[in-house]
Amino acid sequence: MQRLHIDIQGRVQGIGMRPLLAQQAKQLDLTGWIKNTAQGVSLEIQGNNTQRFLQRLQSAPPTLARIDHLNAKPIPLVKSEKHFNIIHSEAGSNNTHLMPDIGICSSCVQELFDPNSRFYLYPLLNCAQCGPRYSIAHSLPYDRINTSMMSFPLCAACQQEYHDPHSRRYHAEPIACHQCGPQLSHALAEVAAVIHEGKVVAIKNTGGYQLICDAYNLETLQHLRQFKQRDTKPLAVMLENIQQIQSHAHLQTTERQLLLSWQRPIVLLRKKAESTLPELIAPKINHWGMMLPNSAIHYLLFYYLAKINMATNALIVTSANHQDAPLIIDDQRARQQLTAVADLVVSHPREIVARVDDSVVRSLQKKTLFIRRARGFVPDVIPLIEDTPPILALGAQLKNTICVTRGREAFLSPHLGNMDNPAGIDFLHTTIQQLLAYTQVTPEYVAHDLHPDFYTSQLATEFAQPHFPIQHHHAHAAAVVAEQQITTPCLALIVDGYGYGTHAAHWGGELFLYHSTQIQHLGNLSPLAMPGGEKAAKQPWRMGISALYQLGLRDIAKTHYSQFNLSSQIIGLLHNTRYCPPTSSCGRLFDAASSLLGVCHVNQYEGQAAMQLESLVTTPCVLEDGWRIEPTGLNLLPTLQHLLHCDPISGSNLFHGTLAHALAQWVAHHAEHYQVKQIVFSGGCIVNKVLSECFIEACQALGINVFFPKSIPPNDGGISLGQAWLTHQQLQREITCA
Ligand SMILES: [Zn+2]
Ligand SMILES: [Zn+2]
Ligand SMILES: [Zn+2]
Repeated sequence: MQRLHIDIQGRVQGIGMRPLLAQQAKQLDLTGWIKNTAQGVSLEIQGNNTQRFLQRLQSAPPTLARIDHLNAKPIPLVKSEKHFNIIHSEAGSNNTHLMPDIGICSSCVQELFDPNSRFYLYPLLNCAQCGPRYSIAHSLPYDRINTSMMSFPLCAACQQEYHDPHSRRYHAEPIACHQCGPQLSHALAEVAAVIHEGKVVAIKNTGGYQLICDAYNLETLQHLRQFKQRDTKPLAVMLENIQQIQSHAHLQTTERQLLLSWQRPIVLLRKKAESTLPELIAPKINHWGMMLPNSAIHYLLFYYLAKINMATNALIVTSANHQDAPLIIDDQRARQQLTAVADLVVSHPREIVARVDDSVVRSLQKKTLFIRRARGFVPDVIPLIEDTPPILALGAQLKNTICVTRGREAFLSPHLGNMDNPAGIDFLHTTIQQLLAYTQVTPEYVAHDLHPDFYTSQLATEFAQPHFPIQHHHAHAAAVVAEQQITTPCLALIVDGYGYGTHAAHWGGELFLYHSTQIQHLGNLSPLAMPGGEKAAKQPWRMGISALYQLGLRDIAKTHYSQFNLSSQIIGLLHNTRYCPPTSSCGRLFDAASSLLGVCHVNQYEGQAAMQLESLVTTPCVLEDGWRIEPTGLNLLPTLQHLLHCDPISGSNLFHGTLAHALAQWVAHHAEHYQVKQIVFSGGCIVNKVLSECFIEACQALGINVFFPKSIPPNDGGISLGQAWLTHQQLQREITCA
């Protein structure tokens, strides 16, 4: 017989932890109590099975919990205690953290289709362990009156469940039912019929409006693509269950876990040859972006589609927006803007306070690699290794996020998108306000990108606080250092699209030595001219010409690229660094390779040429004399030259294998010189799984440990964390960046 006092910190509030642990305590015949505190959750347990309880809590915590600290100590027994009780929260509790939105749980799905449940077919049901959180919260503490559910007074039955410690809906703030909750503007049976007819519908889901249609209807797909101004960019597919996903895509354990996780992200999965889905969904790439339903609305759509015998069971589910603008969350705007594409705009009166798009991930070395970090993950804390002053970091220009630090915690905003359109900029301003209000942080410092023309850099100067310009790739590296809590010197290899380097250079394939007082630039991928500057990023054929020119193959460039009217003119200008600035970008190197192999000459979306090239890889292989390590960096021109004699498949095998191997050799060269055994690996190009896996394996074979970001995106979506961390380091240690 023992009594333990247990304090738990981490993600432990607002997830139904108290009723769950109360239930477990009762199963083990324990008495005691549990309550929310300002720091997390505290409980006392007494009985013969206290150790079993503790063991279970540590080895198999509740699904949604993340235990950062747990402290258990024996205390004197309390006589005549008979029960286990959930007791009143301490003042100040629920004040520190807010949960991300949680995908519908299996118990709620069961009730959704149980004719005896009062939630039968109710499209907005939820419980203490699922439903919206972040997207409906106006402020903290996270109580119903501070959410957009405050305008829906509870009916007697919901009231009773809300206050019953034994109910799954004990303190479920968004609790709602047919009686008292918000109602959809259209019956989902009708919506399903419209989808069945081959139309697009717009539906208000947890974090914003989504456009949904039959994935097999080619005409509808074209119509949707026209509206989104996305001719070829892959669209996400939703299937009802994992078995159906398995009939279209190869699934590894990690990918299965990601699909089934409560965050319910879009997961990139390798296509199966026998998949019947139209190529038009993701043309010329070898993977699908797939997800499972994340809300009752999604499950009900499949349910009604099955009722009308729809032959297909795959839906395109994509954010309701034009091109790269933020997704629409406002009902009126939805009706105004979405009727151009959707036959029905389905809304409900539960206001979306904070916009949050679907997250997109892929697996890398059995870990999660973020491409877009949003629903399900925001506003989860990224724990830092030391106390930071309050910093607001404004991020970069594309795929932006912002970051706020509070002591040992960093809060990364959801994916905000590109800062080159008014709607994106609006979203940035709203998010700054929301994130600062939510974290109750008044920033003392503002961090931003070194690029003077980025909107976020200009915005930084409008703040009265001191502002810190941070070089783009330093920030990429620092983000991983912060996230992985690295304290010893390491190398940092950043393979990226574009970042403003020192002396305004166009950087994007950079190697650094990162230690506590200095970030030292060790070298870069040997530069290629970028004809027309930014235009080259949209037109990989320009990089193809540039590579041939660099190889001294002007005549070949002329014939190889005769189909492009501007090619001769460009060849004439390549010596002129004003029109054709040099770039060490890894992204542009991929563009050059992709174009030289005839795989993709024009990018209709960012990264298209590289994605198509990656998709062709069968078995990566290494061209032994395909690179040179030079005093200034790594030269891959011999590989580019070799590609002229390759077909697309052998060329892509060779390019990926050689690039990964050469990068590892380059890193090893410096690792030995500086006596470091670890490297940070990040930047937009690491979402290329072939490149990253080959590189990591090659490094491991050379005894070098590779750190890549696991809870933030490696692309520019992770920049803001790095900006904040480097600002902190500069304030702390006067770190210099050479
Ligand atoms: Zn639930
Ligand atoms: Zn109700
Ligand atoms: Zn970048």
